[in-house]
Amino acid sequence: MIHIEDKSLCCGCGACSQICPQACICMQPDGEGFSYPQVDLARCVHCGLCEKICPVLHPPFFAPSPAAYAAKLKDASVRQKSSSGGIFFALAKPILEAGGVVFGAGFDENWNVCHQYAETEEALDKLRRSKYVQSDIGQTFKQAQYFLEQGRLVLFTGTPCQVAGLKNYLGKEYERLLTADIICHGVPSPAVWQKFLQENFSSSLIKAIDFRDKSISWDSSYLSVTCQNKKYPSLPFYLRPLRKLFFAQKAFLFRSFFKLHFGISNLYERPSCHACRFKGQHRAADITMGDLWGIAEICPKQYDKNGVSVLLVNTHKGQRAVEEAQGLLLYTEVPLEKVLQHNPYYAASVEASAQRSAFFARYRQEPLNRLLVQLEKAKPWPILLLTKIANKLAGKWRRLLNHRQ
Ligand SMILES: Cc1cc2nc3c(=O)[nH]c(=O)nc-3n(C[C@H](O)[C@H](O)[C@H](O)COP(=O)(O)OP(=O)(O)OC[C@H]3O[C@@H](n4cnc5c(N)ncnc54)[C@H](O)[C@@H]3O)c2cc1C
Ligand code: SF4
Ligand code: SF4
Ligand code: SF4
Repeated sequence: MIHIEDKSLCCGCGACSQICPQACICMQPDGEGFSYPQVDLARCVHCGLCEKICPVLHPPFFAPSPAAYAAKLKDASVRQKSSSGGIFFALAKPILEAGGVVFGAGFDENWNVCHQYAETEEALDKLRRSKYVQSDIGQTFKQAQYFLEQGRLVLFTGTPCQVAGLKNYLGKEYERLLTADIICHGVPSPAVWQKFLQENFSSSLIKAIDFRDKSISWDSSYLSVTCQNKKYPSLPFYLRPLRKLFFAQKAFLFRSFFKLHFGISNLYERPSCHACRFKGQHRAADITMGDLWGIAEICPKQYDKNGVSVLLVNTHKGQRAVEEAQGLLLYTEVPLEKVLQHNPYYAASVEASAQRSAFFARYRQEPLNRLLVQLEKAKPWPILLLTKIANKLAGKWRRLLNHRQ
């Protein structure tokens, strides 16, 4: 029977809860807002299935040496509305056209992030674009298995640990299953996300949320929230001096996730993300998707302000899927080692902020913005100064890159 003593050893994939024949495991949020399995001991029959399929205890990995491609959708308007180059859409469309089902992360009616499936292109729109919050996996492993048993094609996308959880849950290979994971920085707390929304917006008025609004460009994307007809931008750091002009400077909250932009980073990710077991070549997915950071050095001619993805093809099945999406994609092979140099979180776990415990001890009682400002000030001044210089240099580099277009 599953019992979590060390929280860094549970990624919250929910496989144990979905496999339990007694339905006696429920995923319960802790004080930080991350869900962990809780077993109803009175109903447990000690069958051991939950432990057997846990991907942390029994990783379903192979060791891919992926082919790496710079890739983008030919259709610039769809790409503009994707996080990077829109390869998720390129993989999903042929599956839907063949009568298949696509799984990914969307929002529910209260703007919680949760896994769901799409059977039409219209429904697929909800799953597009990154949501930088841990997604509630719900019963989607069960649902995917149901569709596979019906003989339907299934594309399942998510974090590397979610895909590993699915593979263990299914327990056998399905020819009609294609899986794609992301290069995963880590997942922020759903409770912090909800508190941010509640402090700043009335959730019934929210019409759209985009964590990667590309109004400036892909490499200067930012969080935006549209309420009825008004869009509230979370300003990128180089517009900070102007922030008083913008009502929505509150959306600065998400600064603590993005390292390049701000003083504090990695403040409220899941503990397992700081000791991730699903990185580098420890992969279970056919394809890995990410942003092609470092494009100026890797293949400057491919730069596109609407976004460029890196596509890592881990298996033959993945290769076939990319060939099937050929009509929708522009792609060119790039050196893997260069890609990884610029995208460290493919292989390495993020280090937790030194302020993480202080943040979680206080975040329920205090407004988030005030707390963040206080924590930022608590940093030693040489670190703040160095961060400011790094931010300035990064800003110059981005502007230079944009200017070249
Ligand atoms: C939490 C998180 C951290 C990331 N960290 C990095 C990183 O460090 N480096 C990097 O290069 N790329 C990272 N990415 C991936 C990147 O943001 C894009 O998702 C990826 O490049 C695919 O973009 P796209 O344009 O092809 O497709 P999009 O249309 O943007 O598709 C988004 C895809 O991501 C999935 N997804 C969205 N939100 C979540 C979520 N909360 N949990 C699980 N799956 C989700 C969707 O199901 C879909 O498959 C991260 C994504 C997430 C969600
Ligand atoms: S041991 Fe079996 S019955 Fe008990 S919680 Fe695990 S899966 Fe459920
Ligand atoms: S990692 Fe997944 S399967 Fe393992 S205990 Fe956590 S939720 Fe359950
Ligand atoms: S960093 Fe690792 S543990 Fe965290 S969500 Fe990503 S794959 Fe899962």
